[in-house]
Amino acid sequence: MLFDTHAHLNAVQYEEDLEQVIERARAEGVSHIVVVGFDRLTIDRAIELAERYPFIYAAVGWHPVDAIDMTDDDLQMIEQLASHPKVVALGEMGLDYHWDKSPKDVQQDVFRRQIALAKKVKLPIIIHNREATADILKILQEENAAEVGGIMHCFSGSVEVARQCIEMNFLISLGGPVTFKNAKKPKEVAKEIPLSHLLIETDCPYLTPHPFRGKRNEPSYVKYVAEAIAEIKNVSFDEVAKTTMENAKRLFAIDR
Ligand SMILES: [Zn+2]
Repeated sequence: MLFDTHAHLNAVQYEEDLEQVIERARAEGVSHIVVVGFDRLTIDRAIELAERYPFIYAAVGWHPVDAIDMTDDDLQMIEQLASHPKVVALGEMGLDYHWDKSPKDVQQDVFRRQIALAKKVKLPIIIHNREATADILKILQEENAAEVGGIMHCFSGSVEVARQCIEMNFLISLGGPVTFKNAKKPKEVAKEIPLSHLLIETDCPYLTPHPFRGKRNEPSYVKYVAEAIAEIKNVSFDEVAKTTMENAKRLFAIDR
């Protein structure tokens, strides 16, 4: 059984055929999915899906690209949803210096406020990092995010940075890029970081693994991520599936 720890089944890309996408995931042994919300619309939809399907859980947070749009009411809504029985984490949150819609200082403020909230409601956090590693590490340290821990989602950094994140109580989640021939860093991370600190995810509809790279991604493809890790580590597929499942259940406090 496989745990897709980061999926956006709440995205418009699944409006037409969500049922079939979910059926294919189930047929491939995906027993748990965390659907991640990152703004008003996708948060609502993540909760809706988590309420409808027993094997879907929700994470709720505010994306750094849209940090500039987050109001006090939004943060309050996230706080209220934190006590929902199917909400297992806050996020995604973090920093994204690739796009310039939200200024860096606004992103950092919104990130810090969400970490503080996670500590208040005692939920782990899911981190989005794009071209902002130094500031992410600095803020996680300063805000003592280790208290709640969480996930470095779709990790693309070095082994060294992965180790620093693990020190701060974070798990390293690998996605589609670990299956790409030219993806040196994710492969190194898969090789060097013990399975006990790894998770698998799709980040669907984005980052589709080989051999479907370029097409829409979906949770059934998480098996390609597990296969790639198994091959790199020279362990069985079942061992990757089992250990990443245990890691995810422990982090999200899911007991079934
Ligand atoms: Zn995401």
